[in-house]
Amino acid sequence: MLQQVKSFFSRIGGLRQWKMRLQKLRPKMVKCRICFQDIFDINMHQALHSQMQICQKCQNQFTTIFESDRSIGSKVTVLYDYDEFMKTTLFKLKACGDIEIAPAFLAYHRPSLKAHYWNYVMIPAPSHPHHDSNRGFNHVEEIFAGITSQVVKAIRKTEERKQSDLSAIERQAIGEILRWDESVDIIGKNVLFVDDVMTTGATIKACLKMISFHGAKTIEVLVLSRVQDYRQR
Ligand SMILES: [Zn+2]
Repeated sequence: MLQQVKSFFSRIGGLRQWKMRLQKLRPKMVKCRICFQDIFDINMHQALHSQMQICQKCQNQFTTIFESDRSIGSKVTVLYDYDEFMKTTLFKLKACGDIEIAPAFLAYHRPSLKAHYWNYVMIPAPSHPHHDSNRGFNHVEEIFAGITSQVVKAIRKTEERKQSDLSAIERQAIGEILRWDESVDIIGKNVLFVDDVMTTGATIKACLKMISFHGAKTIEVLVLSRVQDYRQR
């Protein structure tokens, strides 16, 4: 009898193995990176793209724009509106240094962005190296991490000027404080320039000029959010 029970369990794999199999079927609990609520990783979309970092409620608070235009020469794709929710969420990342929040910004768009931009070289919007070292990370790089196979910090700022505090004429002079890293080679490559907030587009334009001058084959721009009245500023 004992022999029969033993052989029965050895055939079905033993209790321990069954327990493990059942645990795998249980929905995986994930915490939303923004509101810390539990989210279940069970629907098909989430299962396919696994590791959803944001709950549906928080995702719905972002105002999606997802449109592209070529008004500044290259194709610029904007994901969200720079509204109060975006402002406060970005503040948590940039000013409070909450790096855990970074993957939540692209969450639902990440798989399609990755499919589109994987063969591009990402150049993040320039920041002052001093700010990055104070914070311990570059927030733009963290937000867009993983959608391209390569990231190069080709452009840096030599001094810190807050774009929103400047007049339109002063903003146009942004090019004067940008420096290209001469060790970076982008000749013949597809370049994706990324930024968190687009205000007037002056910084983006100045950077695109440098990227084009250094021999990029194609250039696209992806910005997380755009100030609504940016064309009037
Ligand atoms: Zn949430």
